[in-house]
Amino acid sequence: MTQKKHSAPKTHTSRRTLLSIGSLAAVGSLANTALAQSFTAPPNHLTGRPYPTPIRPLPEGKRTFGYAIVGLGKYALNQILPAFAECQHARLEALVSGDRNKALKVAQQYNLNEDSIYSYENFDNIIHNPKIDAVYIILPNALHADFTIRAFRAGKHVMCEKPMATTIEDAQRMIDAGKRANKQLMIGYRCHYDPLNRQAVSVIRNGRLGTPKILTTDNTDILDFQDPSAQWRVTKALSGGGSLMDIGIYGINASRYLLNEDPIEVMAMTVPPKNPNFGDVEDRITWLMRYRSGAMVHGSSSFSTAATTRFGLQGDKANLTMDPATGYYGNRVELHETDETEVWTPRMFTIPQLNQFSAQLDHLPEAIQKKAPITSTGEEGLQDLKIIQAIYKAAETQKPVSTDWGNWRLG
Ligand code: NAD
Repeated sequence: MTQKKHSAPKTHTSRRTLLSIGSLAAVGSLANTALAQSFTAPPNHLTGRPYPTPIRPLPEGKRTFGYAIVGLGKYALNQILPAFAECQHARLEALVSGDRNKALKVAQQYNLNEDSIYSYENFDNIIHNPKIDAVYIILPNALHADFTIRAFRAGKHVMCEKPMATTIEDAQRMIDAGKRANKQLMIGYRCHYDPLNRQAVSVIRNGRLGTPKILTTDNTDILDFQDPSAQWRVTKALSGGGSLMDIGIYGINASRYLLNEDPIEVMAMTVPPKNPNFGDVEDRITWLMRYRSGAMVHGSSSFSTAATTRFGLQGDKANLTMDPATGYYGNRVELHETDETEVWTPRMFTIPQLNQFSAQLDHLPEAIQKKAPITSTGEEGLQDLKIIQAIYKAAETQKPVSTDWGNWRLG
């Protein structure tokens, strides 16, 4: 074994970083039967929850693109709102919440006045607020479509969290509504704006791995059923599915941007969860995907195994390992060539925004201003959803399912 090409130190990935992935930030005993008995499915209507953590105020700055954030849950409060502080173009302009007290506290933290707070019911009044350019929907998955369509009706652009919807029909309705309104629809696939993921794509496209042959993607975490944000995730009417919809989707999306190709066939296997807290969604699922080029993918996701977010791509010249691959911070990419290992850390990149959340928030105004294409479009989200549905069908029927509906890839 020769020396490493670069002397960059290996970054330590804390358990905390891993656990933050997919926002399922907790370890809990799933064997707590009292808890299992007390678990009840959340209502399939809009609710509000109290404000959990204090957040630092935003600095002053001239940023021209105003966002209204819809849903003040964990991801919005802990990742997205603080990220505005590092934005060049995006500005926090309004909050939409089912809990006015929580919204008032958040508004105070971010120097917003009371007029900037909307409820889920009076949300449509944003049509009268010209300072709101876009709406960012960070609600449970089943609520994405209606808020997207309402936002388009109000003449706003839309950023919507992944998965964009729970059904293919809803996803298509969202895309159509954007086209009718002549407004942009962007999906919050933050990894497209993460420097390490971008670097991995560039290395692969430059042919450094040779021909990509086998890709492995694993996204797992332990769902904490004491956390309210776990409850809608295990209720199919709100989530559309279990670990695959929530965190496996990172592997589905990444297999498309890493291989730059769409699968033509999928196979899958799942086992019924033993824990009654799982409601009507899967805990663990594994899948195989076959590509016209001959590349193959095997992927997995789980809600009951220790936190992992790992991609591995094997080419006929070199291998690439990303571990963690989709963390909020501290992602790591390693290139394994014949007998040496190159370690990259975020420090080695010259991309100005290392914060993927701020880069994502800025991407929409930048694309609009430059009339440039959006990287993570509604069509990207729809394609992922179609592949996910094919994987569910393959798992249910125990037969391969064709995904060869006219291969395309944005590149
Ligand atoms: P969360 O449960 O913490 O927040 C959901 C918010 O929606 C809460 O404020 C809740 O009060 C509100 N809400 C309104 N109606 C509700 C209802 N009927 N049931 C439950 N909550 C309701 O969830 P989260 O982790 O913030 O996830 C929200 C969205 O963000 C999801 O689509 C999720 O997939 C996505 N997400 C994306 C990432 C990422 O890295 N891109 C990370 C975490 C979550």
